[in-house]
Formats: sequence, structure tokens, C-alpha cells
Amino acid sequence: MKTKWLLVSISVLTFVIVLFPGALSMRAQADAATRQMARDIFKQLIEINTTDSVGNTTDAAEAMAAWLRGAGFSDDDVQVLGPNPRKGNLVARIHGTNARKPVLFICHLDVVEAHREDWTMDPFQFIEKDGYFYGRGTEDIKEGDAILVTTFIRLKKEGYRPDRDLILALTADEEGGNFNGVAWLLNNHRQLIDADFVINPDAGDFEMDQGKKLTIGIEASEKLYQHYEIKAENPGGHSSLPRPDNAIYELAGGLLRLERYLFPFELNEVTREYFAREADIVGGATGADMKAILSTPPDPAAIKRLSFVPYYNSRMRTTCVATRVEAGHANNALPGMARANVNCRILPGHTPEEIQQQLVQIMADPKITVSPSTVIGAGSHPNPPSPLRPDVMDPIQHVAAAMWPGVPVVPLMDAGASDGATTRAFGMPTYGVPGVFIDINDDRSHGRDERLPVASFYEGVDFYYHLVRNLSSPQ
Ligand SMILES: [Zn+2]
Repeated sequence: MKTKWLLVSISVLTFVIVLFPGALSMRAQADAATRQMARDIFKQLIEINTTDSVGNTTDAAEAMAAWLRGAGFSDDDVQVLGPNPRKGNLVARIHGTNARKPVLFICHLDVVEAHREDWTMDPFQFIEKDGYFYGRGTEDIKEGDAILVTTFIRLKKEGYRPDRDLILALTADEEGGNFNGVAWLLNNHRQLIDADFVINPDAGDFEMDQGKKLTIGIEASEKLYQHYEIKAENPGGHSSLPRPDNAIYELAGGLLRLERYLFPFELNEVTREYFAREADIVGGATGADMKAILSTPPDPAAIKRLSFVPYYNSRMRTTCVATRVEAGHANNALPGMARANVNCRILPGHTPEEIQQQLVQIMADPKITVSPSTVIGAGSHPNPPSPLRPDVMDPIQHVAAAMWPGVPVVPLMDAGASDGATTRAFGMPTYGVPGVFIDINDDRSHGRDERLPVASFYEGVDFYYHLVRNLSSPQ
């Protein structure tokens, strides 16, 4: 009996290994040589300055191209290209059987500025200390570049034959600059990076709190970012002779009406799924409220209660908030002008022009003008939520469950913007998958002494290796 069961077990085991290569070893770590290579690539990237002011992404792209060519990629399958010598992008490809359309992995090479005097160490020196890697870009997002390059090298060396092409694009100008790499590639070399869908490590949240892993947040939607100038003008005059009308009072009245205004409650596929899963995670009265806003019709009292929590509020509606004011020119003069900057985060499906008209109505004063103070479309592109496709979400769920059992996968809509807005606007569904866990109280991206836990980095190396295989293995 026991022998028979053993035989059955062995045959089941063989079946599993044949059908799901890598399935049983999913929790195994990369070997020492792979970890060292990942670290070396990461170090090299941190130490190449890719800021917009004095750095350039071409050096970083060329360095990554050299790693890939050294691992056996042909010159045809690794290219560095860009609009000018400082803004190079890397594009690499692993050929598959073409059973399915390609998957594109994007990650930016540029970093925000970092000044030596603001930091306690050189921001462009890679330092490992007390369980962290330090340096500009360790969190945003050169760890993602290093993990993806490492993954592509491993798969190439293994002679891996995916059922679809795997494309890697490491790009310029996500943080600033005028030549956004993803947009430039899509406008000029669409066929080089055209894909069924896109994975972007530079969005989403893998959250932990003092080492305890909380959630695996997959970003599938983004709000649109737009500034408006709200302005009142007046002939002004001497302050000893106040007129009945006054630019400061008019602007203040308009801003108070904005303060009291709530944009309509609205969910999309991604935020509905977010609240459905979050309801079970947080539980209690808040969890019950989340379930109540998902019913038809949604419970207005539950919407009102959740609206007091800025994070939840921002996932349920467009928000517009005054961020700066400026008015008057002298202490003894009536103000000739009063203006405010209002920053809006617009839900997918709504346009900046539409929100401008709504602001005019909210101001409800013909003396107040509302105009876009940034070029519409400059900050981010209007982009639809990406559908939560099983062929994307199931592999993520599968790898996450094997590596971090019990940590829930939750789809997210970001209130900020990433290059995913661009790829979505060009018709490619895009999913933000960081792969590395960051402590919720230690997010230093764009800040001083930016750092990433060493353990998170190597887990990311393992996670992405299995994820890429699961997204591209014959089913
Ligand atoms: Zn970033």
C-alpha cells in the first residue's frame, strides 16, 4: 500500500515538474553567483549619475547592454537608442515561440536630483550598511532595473524558450526632462516594444511594517494630474477707500466653496476590487463600510465615513485642493489680483477640460477665472484602468502565494502617476509590480539617504524570475 502511494506520489510529482517547471523550487533562492551578479549590476547603476541636470541615461543603458551582450544576447536583440546622446534607452528581447503576444517590462533609469550636502553619504556611491543598500535610486527605481536585467540574463543563460517574446525597456526621463523615454519609444519605435501588456516595477506597493509583510499591491490604474490657476482681478486702489468688491475676498469665497465641494463618488473595476479585498483585510466597521459602498445602490453614510480617510477618499473620487495662494502687492493697497494654485487628481474616464468646467461652476463667480496652469497632458496622459485579466493576475497571485503565503494580493489605483500612464494611453494594459517590500514608515524615494532593505532586493530577484517564467510558460 505504502509503495503504491509512493509511486503515485512520484508520478504526481513528475507531472507537476513537467507541467510547472520551477513550481516546486519557487521558494528556493537564487544561487550565490546570481545574487552577486544582481548586486554588481545594482552597484554599477547606482554609481552612474542619471539625473536630468548633470547625469545621463545613455551610460547606464550602455552598461546594461554590455551585461546582456556578455550573457549571449545578439547585437540585434540589444539596442540603445534615444532622442539625443544624453537620453539613451535600452531595449532588449528574448525570443519566444510566438504562441502569444509579447510582454513588455519597463523601468526608468533616471533618478531625481540628490545633493551631497543634503545626505549623510555620497548619494552616487553604493553602500551596504546595517541591512540596507544606500544610494540615489536604490528605491526609485534602479533596484527594478537591476532585477530585470538579472532576470533576463538568467533566462538567456538557461536557454529559456518562452511562449511569447519578452521585451525589456529601461528608459529615460520619468522623473523629469523633456524626452520621456517610454513616450519617445512609443512614438518613434512602437514595433520594437509593442506588447500584449506591460509590467512596471515603478508602481504599486509591496508593503511591510517592521519586517511583517502586509500587502502585495498591484497598480492597475492611475489618476490624472493637473494644476489650475484660480484668479480674481480688481482695479484696486488705496486701502483707506475700500471698494465693495475685493479680489482677495472673491478668491477666498471661491476657495471656501471648493473646500466644501465633494466630487461625485465613482468606482472602477480596479477600485471596486481594491475595496472588496481591503474590506476583508481591515475588517470591523471600516471593512463593513467598504462592503456597503460596493452594494447597489452604494450606502451614502458609508461613503461619507470613508471620505474622512484621505487615502480611501482619494480612491473614490476626483480631488482638487488649493496648494498655494498669492495676492496683493502692498500692505496699504487694495489687491489688484489674488490667485491660487489648485491641484487636481482626476479619476480615469474624466478629462482636464471637464474638471476645468466643474471648477468654474464650483467658483460660481464670474469674476473668478479658472485656467490650466500646466499644459494639459504634460504631467500625465488620460489613461483607462487596466482590466484585471486572469492571465496577468493569476501568475502574480501564484508566485506571491508560493513565496509569501497568506500575504494578500490587492489591486490598486495610484493617486500619483508613473510611466504606466503613457503605456496605458497607447493602448497597452499596464500593471505596477514592485517585487520588493518597503517598510510603510521608511519610504525614502526622492528623499535623503534613500535606501532599500538588502533582503527585499534579493527576494525581488527571486520573485521576478518566477513571475517572468509564469507569465510566459506554455500552459
Ligand atoms: Zn520612479
